[in-house]
Amino acid sequence: MIKHETQWDVLVIGAGPAGASAATVLADHGHRVLILERESFPRYHVGESLIPFTYAPLERIGLIPKLRASNFIKKYSVQFVSPNGSASQPFYFFNRYDRETVAQTWQVLRSEFDLMVLNNAREHGAVVREQTEVLELLKEGDRVVGVRARHVDGSVVDYHAPMTLDCTGKEAFSTVRQGWRVKDPYLNKVAVWTYYEGAKRDNGIDEGTTTVAFVPEKGWFWYIPQHNNRVSVGVVAEGKYLSREGVRDPESIFKREIAQNLWIQDHLSVGKQVGPHYITNEYTFHSRHCGCEGLLLVGDSFAFLDPVFSSGLMLAFKSGVMAGDLVHEALVQRDFAPSRFTEYARTMRQGLENMRKLVYAFYNPNFSFRTITDKYPHLGGDITDCLSGDVNKDFSRLWAAISEFAELPEDLPYGAPLESRPEARPANSVS
Ligand SMILES: Cc1cc2nc3c(=O)[nH]c(=O)nc-3n(C[C@H](O)[C@H](O)[C@H](O)COP(=O)(O)OP(=O)(O)OC[C@H]3O[C@@H](n4cnc5c(N)ncnc54)[C@H](O)[C@@H]3O)c2cc1C
Repeated sequence: MIKHETQWDVLVIGAGPAGASAATVLADHGHRVLILERESFPRYHVGESLIPFTYAPLERIGLIPKLRASNFIKKYSVQFVSPNGSASQPFYFFNRYDRETVAQTWQVLRSEFDLMVLNNAREHGAVVREQTEVLELLKEGDRVVGVRARHVDGSVVDYHAPMTLDCTGKEAFSTVRQGWRVKDPYLNKVAVWTYYEGAKRDNGIDEGTTTVAFVPEKGWFWYIPQHNNRVSVGVVAEGKYLSREGVRDPESIFKREIAQNLWIQDHLSVGKQVGPHYITNEYTFHSRHCGCEGLLLVGDSFAFLDPVFSSGLMLAFKSGVMAGDLVHEALVQRDFAPSRFTEYARTMRQGLENMRKLVYAFYNPNFSFRTITDKYPHLGGDITDCLSGDVNKDFSRLWAAISEFAELPEDLPYGAPLESRPEARPANSVS
C-alpha cells in the first residue's frame, strides 16, 4: 500500500550542492523542507575544483568558516600547459579580486565536501532521507504536486508539496521525463579520469593550482591537487580522437593520452594510480524549460556545461540559493505561477550562455587567450571575470573581439518556465 505525507512545504530531489544549498536557504526562511536522495552519503562524485565566484553563495549558506577549517587544498590560480610541457605563469585570482575572500577558493574531494554541505543543510533545519529514490512526479493536470519515492526497505511513499525542486544533477530526472532535455549542437566530448597518490605538485600557494594541459586536437587534461596527497586527473576530447585505432576501454585510453603531454607524463611518473578509471560521454545539454507549475530545475538538471572552466559547482550553488529565495516568496504569497521563475531562468541562462561562448572559443583551433589579450590588452579583465564565474554581465566587447578568430554560438532560446494550459488546470488549482 502506498503511504502519503503531506506536511512538507518543499520537496528537494537530490542532495548534491544544488539541492542542499536550496534546502538550506528554505529552511533558514522557516519552511519545512524534505530532501530525498537515492544514495547514502558520503558518495563518490566527480567535479572537484571550485572557482572564485562560488564565494557569495557559499557565504550565504554559512559554509565559508567550515571550508576554512577543512583540509581541502586552497586554490589561488589556474595555469595552462602546452603539449610540449611548457607551463604558462599561474594566473592568480588575487591580481583582480580580494585576496581574503573571492580570490581564494578550494579543490575538494566531493564525497567529503558534499557531506559537509548536506550536514550544513541539516543543521539549518532541512530533513534528509537517504537511500530514497524518486520514481515519478505526481501531477494534477500540468501541475506537479509532489513525487513518488521508494525507500531502502522497499516501501513506497507519495510525498505532496506545493513546490518540488529537481536537483538530480546530470541525470536530470524531471528534465528527461518532461521531454525537455536538448543536446548542445556542438559540445559533445568524452571524459576519462582517475586518481593518483604521490604525484608531483608545487609548494606554497601553487600547491592547489588547477592545471589545464593540452593534448592534440583541442583535447585537454585537468590536474587537480587534492588533500591526502591525491591528484584528480582526467582527459577530455572528442570521442573519435580518444578511441582512435579502436582503443575503447577507459584505462587504455587514459594511459595512451598521458604520453601526449610531457608535463602530465612527468608529474604522474612518480605517483601511483589508485581506484578505477571513470568515463562519461553524457555531455553538455540544456533544458527547454526551467520548470512548470510546482516544479523548478536547479543545478545541472537545468543545464550541464562542458567542465573545462569548472563552472558547474558555482552554477549549482548560485541557482540553489536563488531558487531557495524565490520559492520562499512563492510560499509566502501562496502563488506558484510558473512566471515567477522567468527572471531566475533569464539570469541562469545569461550566465550559462556567457560561459558557453568561452567554452566554444576554447575548442576552436584559431583561438587562444593569448591571441586576444595580445591584440586587445584591455579585455584581459573581462576574460578573467568570465573564467572566475562573474558571469552575469555584458561581455559583448569580448565576444566581438573573439569572433574575429573563432565563431561563437548564438544564444539558445531555452529556459523560460512552461505555463500551464488552461484546459489542464485542475478545478482546485491554487494559482
Ligand atoms: C568529468 C566532469 C568533470 C567536472 N569537473 C568539475 C569541476 O572541476 N568543477 C566544477 O565546479 N564542476 C565540475 N563538474 C560539474 C559538477 O560535477 C556538477 O556541476 C555538480 O556536481 C552539480 O551539482 P548538482 O547538485 O546539480 O548535481 P549532483 O552533484 O550530481 O547531485 C545530484 C544528486 O541527485 C541524486 N539523484 C539523482 N537522481 C535521483 C533520484 N531519482 N532520486 C533521488 N536522488 C537522485 C544523486 O544521487 C546526486 O546525489 C564536472 C563534471 C564532469 C562530468
